Amino acid sequence: MHISDYGYTAPSDYSPCLPARVVGEHRGRYQIVCDAGAGFATLRGGAYYYGGETFPTVGDFVLLAWQQAGDSAIMRTLPRRSCFARRDPTPGRVAQAVAANFDTVLVAQSLNQDFNLSRLERTLALALQSGGAPVILLTKADLCADAQPYLAAVRQRFPDVPALAVSAATGAGMAGLAPYLAPGRTLVILGSSGVGKSSLINALLGQDAQATAAIRAQDGKGRHTTTARQLLMLPGGAMIIDTPGMREMGLLFAREGLRDSFAPVEELIGRCRFSNCTHTCEPGCAVRRAGKRHAGRGAMAALSGAAGGIRPRGAAGRQA
Ligand code: GDP
Ligand code: ZN
Repeated sequence: MHISDYGYTAPSDYSPCLPARVVGEHRGRYQIVCDAGAGFATLRGGAYYYGGETFPTVGDFVLLAWQQAGDSAIMRTLPRRSCFARRDPTPGRVAQAVAANFDTVLVAQSLNQDFNLSRLERTLALALQSGGAPVILLTKADLCADAQPYLAAVRQRFPDVPALAVSAATGAGMAGLAPYLAPGRTLVILGSSGVGKSSLINALLGQDAQATAAIRAQDGKGRHTTTARQLLMLPGGAMIIDTPGMREMGLLFAREGLRDSFAPVEELIGRCRFSNCTHTCEPGCAVRRAGKRHAGRGAMAALSGAAGGIRPRGAAGRQA
């Protein structure tokens, strides 16, 4: 195992620390990989709780005081090249990252009655702010007699964003993902519940899917592929980050009426009455309440400005 296989390109002269990548997170305990091996690590308290160090999330590169036996200590979080974050429900903390250091954001929308250019636009705006490069993925192409008109509409509206139609069920179009699946590259999928994210991940994992599920069941981190927090290594050497936080981000954009800028809406996550709120049917849901209140503006401002580069987080939402 080599850290560069996990997409690490920065210097490696952090001796005596080792650069490592966070590949999983379970209740404050991090699963990490580094040149010395794979294992678990916890945060070096002082730096994180008093020193203002950025709390790591799945995908982060960190500096590790490696321990052959027992948990290693995470000393520092290295600068991120991309990340998705939401408001942290913990008082005193500002943002909670849910995925970091990805290259590509697959913005997924399914071709069976889910297709909606305005929602695609809002999701793309969020993707552009993350620092990752968006790719539009029209999923379940097998359920659509002809995907071409949809692809044409998408390409006309977003000429600078690559767009593909794929079917995880039949494999059609999946070869088009090859440019984003080079060894060491990291992907995330952003899309509402049911667009086929799990199916895509399983298709990309191929025969490894069963093995991965088995490993997870074994260490008791839950049997369902959609709830574990993790960075998965794909057979070709690319990686995909699949965390509940990422799924919650996708969910935001499924709700009709969430047309306002996304930053304020993101902040609402964590303000719902129930901490595990899915923002679908629970009482006291701050996200749905806001959805009813907000009306009007889409994320066009963010997208039209995107050609000039990626804006700082929240800037698009404040644009007139
Ligand atoms: P997620 O919630 O985004 O992870 O979506 P899932 O991967 O769980 O898929 C939701 C549903 O769509 C499941 O019933 C899948 O079997 C189905 N599905 C996913 N991908 C495809 C596809 O390419 N073709 C068809 N026909 N069904 C699909
Ligand atoms: Zn809610």
